[in-house]
Amino acid sequence: MSKSTSAKLATLRNALAALPDKDVLHKYLGRSTTAPNLLRDAVLVVLHRKWSAHPPYRLTELGITTYDRSSINQGQPIMAGPHAEDLLRKVWCLHLVIRSTAHLDATATGLDPFHFGTTVYVSQEEALVLLEHIWHQPMDEQNEDAGYRLIIYMSFGSNSSISRVRKTAFDFDPTLLDTTVASLDAQIIPQQSKITRHADADFAYLLRQFNVPVYHSHNSGNAAMYATIVAILSTLRFELYGSLQNAKAKPGRVGQSSSKSAMFVVQSLKNWPTPAPPVGVEVFCWRCGSGEHGFLECHNADLKCRRCECAVQEWRRKNAGTHMEGSCAFGPR
Ligand SMILES: [Zn+2]
Ligand SMILES: [Zn+2]
Repeated sequence: MSKSTSAKLATLRNALAALPDKDVLHKYLGRSTTAPNLLRDAVLVVLHRKWSAHPPYRLTELGITTYDRSSINQGQPIMAGPHAEDLLRKVWCLHLVIRSTAHLDATATGLDPFHFGTTVYVSQEEALVLLEHIWHQPMDEQNEDAGYRLIIYMSFGSNSSISRVRKTAFDFDPTLLDTTVASLDAQIIPQQSKITRHADADFAYLLRQFNVPVYHSHNSGNAAMYATIVAILSTLRFELYGSLQNAKAKPGRVGQSSSKSAMFVVQSLKNWPTPAPPVGVEVFCWRCGSGEHGFLECHNADLKCRRCECAVQEWRRKNAGTHMEGSCAFGPR
């Protein structure tokens, strides 16, 4: 990166840090004609991590969404459509399950289903490589010197800070990467947009304000998408819902969004074809490690992990049926 570019970048980073998160997102989404060029080429990335519930905490899943404003309509502002439908259709949602730790979250009925795309099973290294690629997207594929596109990183509530505590279990901190130009919190954006007075509202509460039902938000892929939806609908509330009759832009079937319900829009996002993540495998059994069948189809269902079966922690004994000893995430006692 040239000297002048890094100076411009530092100025931009400081300017964005001084703004409320909702204003940064609003600038980026193209409603503002004063957005600097660097921001127009940026990519919005939402990351949601899931850790095992008990120590030693391990990363078990990653949900990611990406939105590339410049690839749409040559970067010109687009009409967002009812409930931001046209914009949300361009969001790519990925769900990665870490193969070696998947069993830690599993019950006899498996894992919560992902509704916005394809789940893939990956190694921790594959997940890290994919994140590195997402954070280092060339500005110009033909010209390496053009540098990387900036990333607007967004997470939900404490999800990002927990990862700093658990850094040893999964060493990826977007706030330390020099392509990250802003770090936003999707949980605070609805409060800043006056959708709610609460700074700690959960997905079910927040999406209820838009009449969108929430299913399986413990699946990190769904969580990443719900965070994206809630942040975008909140940020664009005046464009999406405002009208002469609805000066306060109360969400509903009003204004630009009068033609359909938000529930219908989110349901059609689930039905919309979403390309699978370019890593990992789509079939994997975390009980026996096979790539031929899934956990629920496993023929070795009566086998248990002997190490966990006689562990001192009750939760490990309960979890012993989800994996064989060879797939155990824990070393010898
Ligand atoms: Zn199996
Ligand atoms: Zn075990």
